[in-house]
Amino acid sequence: MADALSEFKKYVFPKDYAELKDYPLRIHLISASPKILPMLSGKSYVNSLKDLERLKVQVHLNVAVQSYDGLTVKLSNGKMLKTTNLIWTAGVKGTFSKGLQPDIVRRGDRLEVDAFNAVIGTDSIFAIGDVALMKIDAYPKGHPMVAPVANQQGTHLDKNLLKPKNKWQPFIYRYKGSLATIGKKSAVADFGTLHIWDLIAWFLWSTIHLMSISGFKNKIMVGLSWASSYFTYDKGNRLIIRK
Ligand SMILES: Cc1cc2nc3c(=O)[nH]c(=O)nc-3n(C[C@H](O)[C@H](O)[C@H](O)COP(=O)(O)OP(=O)(O)OC[C@H]3O[C@@H](n4cnc5c(N)ncnc54)[C@H](O)[C@@H]3O)c2cc1C
Repeated sequence: MADALSEFKKYVFPKDYAELKDYPLRIHLISASPKILPMLSGKSYVNSLKDLERLKVQVHLNVAVQSYDGLTVKLSNGKMLKTTNLIWTAGVKGTFSKGLQPDIVRRGDRLEVDAFNAVIGTDSIFAIGDVALMKIDAYPKGHPMVAPVANQQGTHLDKNLLKPKNKWQPFIYRYKGSLATIGKKSAVADFGTLHIWDLIAWFLWSTIHLMSISGFKNKIMVGLSWASSYFTYDKGNRLIIRK
């Protein structure tokens, strides 16, 4: 979000909002944790910070947002930021149907499940993906809330449900690596001890995401659309009314 806003100012303002091209837009990224993108290795993390610096995003680590009154953001280090725009990206919560026992609802409103994704205390209710909290030694706080976990749990549960219960296998998450884009031309990627960054990582990110889109026609259409916006920086007409 922070890098997209920075590029928005650089590439979109001059075209679509010419009157705002010199607007002193400043982007602050505030994180209560000591690291942004916590799943990244040290090397990729350093590269991601360099990319944000290049995009003029000011990163504040170990700092929490304490309050916002619509004009001023108060930070835990005592600093204040004057702004009318605060974009909140922390805290994804689960939603679940009423009627479940409240004691199976854990942090972030996730439902505690056993190794087969069955909601604790039930034998015919299953939860997968973000809303499921499976506590195992490798992930005592539950698996990360990312798409590969949701996909793998879905496929795994599907296979289990087609078999008699005594043949069910516990879910084991296969971590395939981490990828994150920072801006339009840069990304960082970790695959075990292999670290890739910059443009190559960005192309890798695009290819992997393109491959994940279902249907050949969709892949081609999205690929062409990405290629066009990559080279032209044109996302189509966003303005409906103009003087
Ligand atoms: C801004 C953002 C960026 C992200 N970026 C990445 C990324 O780069 N890589 C990555 O791996 N993951 C990313 N994630 C996380 C990823 O999107 C989730 O982990 C993944 O979508 C989880 O899949 P899911 O099927 O568990 O839940 P969801 O994809 O959230 O699907 C749940 C569905 O249930 C529906 N629903 C909710 N309540 C009800 C109800 N009562 N009845 C019926 N339907 C209901 C919702 O509408 C939704 O369609 C990102 C998440 C966010 C918010």
